[in-house]
Amino acid sequence: MDEVEPTMMKATCHTPGCPVAEQTFVEPMYPAPAPPVWRAQCGQCGQPVTDLVPADV
Ligand SMILES: [Zn+2]
Repeated sequence: MDEVEPTMMKATCHTPGCPVAEQTFVEPMYPAPAPPVWRAQCGQCGQPVTDLVPADV
């Protein structure tokens, strides 16, 4: 079947009061089937992470 390669993305949570706010995590992500293509959820505060940029690998 189709194998989708994950893309390394830098995700930064900006939710005020979040324990990991303003910290950038590099994680492998898979494109979503519908826009927005990249979606992530903060593991600490549970809010959607909107600051996603491709990481240099
Ligand atoms: Zn957060």
